[in-house]
Amino acid sequence: MSGAGAEGDGEPMDLELERMRELGHRVVDRVVERWANLRERPTARPGSREEMEERLREPAPEEGGDPEEALAAFWEDVEPFAGATNHPRFMAFIPSSPSFGSLLGDWLTAGCNFFQGTWIESPGPSQVELVVLDWIKEAVGYPGGARGLLTSGGSAANLMGLAAAREHVLGTDPDGGVAYCSDQAHSAVDRALRVLGVPEDRVRRIPSDEAYRLDPDAVEEAVRRDRERGLRPFCVVATAGTTNTGAVDPLEEIAELCRRQGLWMHVDGAYGAAAAMTERGRERLSGLERADSLVLDPHKWMYVGYETGCLLVRDGEALYDAFHVLPDYLKDVEAERGEVNFADYGVQLTREARAIRVWTSLKTHGLEAVRGEIERTCRLAGRAEGWVRERPELELMSRASMGVVCFRHAGPEAARAGRGGAEPPPADDTAGAGEDSAGAGEEPLAARSRDDPELDAFNEEIVERSQEEGRFMVSSTRLHGRYVIRLCPLNHRTGAGDVEDLLDEVVRLGRELS
Ligand SMILES: *Cc1c(COP(=O)(O)O)cnc(C)c1O
Repeated sequence: MSGAGAEGDGEPMDLELERMRELGHRVVDRVVERWANLRERPTARPGSREEMEERLREPAPEEGGDPEEALAAFWEDVEPFAGATNHPRFMAFIPSSPSFGSLLGDWLTAGCNFFQGTWIESPGPSQVELVVLDWIKEAVGYPGGARGLLTSGGSAANLMGLAAAREHVLGTDPDGGVAYCSDQAHSAVDRALRVLGVPEDRVRRIPSDEAYRLDPDAVEEAVRRDRERGLRPFCVVATAGTTNTGAVDPLEEIAELCRRQGLWMHVDGAYGAAAAMTERGRERLSGLERADSLVLDPHKWMYVGYETGCLLVRDGEALYDAFHVLPDYLKDVEAERGEVNFADYGVQLTREARAIRVWTSLKTHGLEAVRGEIERTCRLAGRAEGWVRERPELELMSRASMGVVCFRHAGPEAARAGRGGAEPPPADDTAGAGEDSAGAGEEPLAARSRDDPELDAFNEEIVERSQEEGRFMVSSTRLHGRYVIRLCPLNHRTGAGDVEDLLDEVVRLGRELS
């Protein structure tokens, strides 16, 4: 027979039904095989622009070809040259290790290509998004009356949340508007504010305290000064889980400050807010529920695939006001009777139905599994802190907090002596006990340590070597100007052995480089 549903002969965009089935099955088989063999492959394989050009440059095909060739080229020239962010030994940045239930949802949405911008086009998928948003709100303890949407990620969610803040507090004229955040806020916040017409010199990046948290008193003082100068403070951005160290800004105090000062409280919890699903996380993130807007990426700690971010706004009207426009050509789709056009709540008109993968993931694995993994990976970072303390060649640079811990090699001398270059910090109850040490009330480790460009370079070299070897993937950052190795073992496949092996590898590379 001819192509699927084809009226005429030789439909150029369809294949024979049997062929489609066969190709589809082959893709599924390869993807599952890739999952099964993750541990055996490198975490990443470098590829220069030159090599990639050589492998992949070609003119746009005028004539179609054999789809098998496209698939073969994908597995040969594309797939190997990408970091496997779901690799059990990938502990860089914020890993993403989606569940199989999430992947099922991806396949379904790709296969059905729903248009998730307006209710009239997709009542089913739109209702799924409403349901999923309610699940998330309830799971993290955010008010049920809040509205929101799923976004491409935390960057887009920050942009849209801050747009609501700007519109709500400043109206359509952002002139003189000032926003406040700590020096640890994510670059996505800077970019969002820039796009929204809040120039760099109106973004107050307040120096963080010794535990890398926003200092509410310093914010209030800055707000007072800005008001005196005739400026218009409108928003405080608090981070619930900073990228550098997993620090959590003092949310309750910031909520109080925002109430007193009539400011919008925006919480960027892109990776960390999911921890509010757990008992301990809920305590640590207390005050989150008071945010006017909250960013949370299911594609990070909720084990869902890219691109799945989420924005929740307490007063949903504010989000609607910031984005709703109704041109003539969309009059037919104006929502009624409680129906929701998600296009009215953000920048996208055409949207994929990304809620489906959250829905299939949770229906397959359940919230309890997500909670369990959040707790386990938090504990794992806490144990990593203990293991760093136990290895005399390593120095702890920030305590485990929300699944992130920073350390560095103490240098060639320590490598040769097999002991630390600096006195290790005093052991602490939580160290090694597998508890997330909450990053609070501690000695300012990084600030205390030596400022030493040679040591920075030494550690940089270790990280580069490690990335080249491809057994692990860790990333680096700077704390108080010092180069540190940052460990973020959030993957549901990452085990204690992976983390210990990584620390041993750093010790080994340090020895080899000394
Ligand atoms: C990851 C992250 C972002 C950016 O989110 P994307 O999904 O990468 O766009 C913003 N803020 C924080 C705190 C993050 O962890």
